[in-house]
Amino acid sequence: MENYDAIVAGAGIWGCTVARRLAEAGKRVLVLERREEAGGNVRCETDAETGIEVHTYGSHIFHTHIPEVWRFVNRFTEFNGYQHKVLARYRGKTYFLPLGLALVNGFFGTDLTPPELAGFMADENHSKALFDAFFRGYTSKQWGRPPEEIDPAVIKRVPVRSSYDINYFNDMWQGIPANGYNALFEALLDHPSITMRRGVEFRLDGGRGMAGGDMLPPARIYYSGPVDALFGCKFGHLPWRTLRFERETLSVADYQGTAVVNYTEAEVPYTRIHEFKHYHPERRETMALGKTVVMREYPAAWKPGDEPYYPVDCAESRGLLSRYMEEASKVPGLTVGGRLGAYRYFDMDRSVEAALAVDVEWSDWRGSDPRPQH
Ligand code: UDP
Repeated sequence: MENYDAIVAGAGIWGCTVARRLAEAGKRVLVLERREEAGGNVRCETDAETGIEVHTYGSHIFHTHIPEVWRFVNRFTEFNGYQHKVLARYRGKTYFLPLGLALVNGFFGTDLTPPELAGFMADENHSKALFDAFFRGYTSKQWGRPPEEIDPAVIKRVPVRSSYDINYFNDMWQGIPANGYNALFEALLDHPSITMRRGVEFRLDGGRGMAGGDMLPPARIYYSGPVDALFGCKFGHLPWRTLRFERETLSVADYQGTAVVNYTEAEVPYTRIHEFKHYHPERRETMALGKTVVMREYPAAWKPGDEPYYPVDCAESRGLLSRYMEEASKVPGLTVGGRLGAYRYFDMDRSVEAALAVDVEWSDWRGSDPRPQH
C-alpha cells in the first residue's frame, strides 16, 4: 500500500475539513469511509421521481456566527440564503417557534407587546402551560425521558426572544449549499493529495490503523466514528438516540407550507415532518412541481447496529466517555473528533470550528518519533 502521512477515518464534515487542511499543509491524506459516499449524516440524495434533494438523515441547515467557519465553508460552496423557520403543531393548531411573541400570542390568544411579555411569562400557570404544550411531549419523544432528566442546555438550543423574530437561529449566517451538500463534500475532498477509499471499515489493532483486513502504513490518525467502537466497546456502549424515518412522495405541490413542522404532543409518535423542497425556494422547477417529498422522524433508543445520531449526556455516558478518551490519548498520533468521535451534540459549524483547531502543521507522525522516510 502507498504511504500516507495521515489517515482520516470517517468522511463527515469534521473529517473532510481536517483532510482538506492536512492536504493544504502538504500532507498526503488517505480518507476512509465506511459508507459508499462522503458526507456522514449530512449526506443528501436526489429523489429519482421528483428531482427534490432529500436530506437522507434528517434536515441539515448550515448556520453559524463564527467568521472563520463561514469563510472556510464559503471557499467550497455558495449558499442559497435560505432562512430556517420552524412551526409547531399542537392539538390541531399550528404555531411559530421559537419562544417569542408569535408563539405566546398565538397560543394564549393575547396581544402582548415586548415589554409585557416577561411579566406575563413570570406567571407560573402561563410558563407551565407553554412548556407542557411545546416542550414536554416533544422532549420526552426525542430523548425517551422527561425534560427534568435532560441537560437544560439541550432545550436551551431553542432561542427565547421577546420579539416577533421567528428565525430559528440567532446566527449571523445561514443557508443551504446552492448546489447541495454532496457537492460541498466533493469540493472539500477534491485535492491532489487526498485519496478516498469507500465502503471500508476502519479499526485499530495494537495501535495500528486497519482498513478492512489491511494494515495501514504508520501515519497520524484522525478518527470521527464512535469512540467506544475504536476500543471494541470494552467498557460498555456509549448511549445514543437513533432516528427512524418514513419517507413519502405526495401528489401535491406543497404539503405543509414550510420545511419543518414539529409535532409537540406526546400522543403523535413522530417528532417532526420535513418537506425538503422548501430548502431550495430558488429551484423554481421543483417548487412548481405538483409533487413533494415528506419525511416523518421517529426518535428511538439506540441499540448496536443502529445509526447513532444524538449523544445522551448523563452521568453514565460522561464516565464512559472519559474512560474511552483516556484510552484514545494513549494511542500515539491519534486525534478523535466530530459529533460521534467527541460524543458532543455539535452542530455542523461547531464540527468545522473544531476541525479548524486541529494541528496540521506537524512534521513527524507521532510527536518525538521521526516520521518514517517514504
Ligand atoms: N424541543 C422541544 N420542542 C420543540 C423543539 C425542540 O421540546 O418543538 C427541545 C427538544 O428537547 C430538543 C431540543 O429542544 O431535543 C433541541 O431542539 P433542536 O431543534 O435544536 O433539535 P435538533 O434539530 O438538533 O434535533
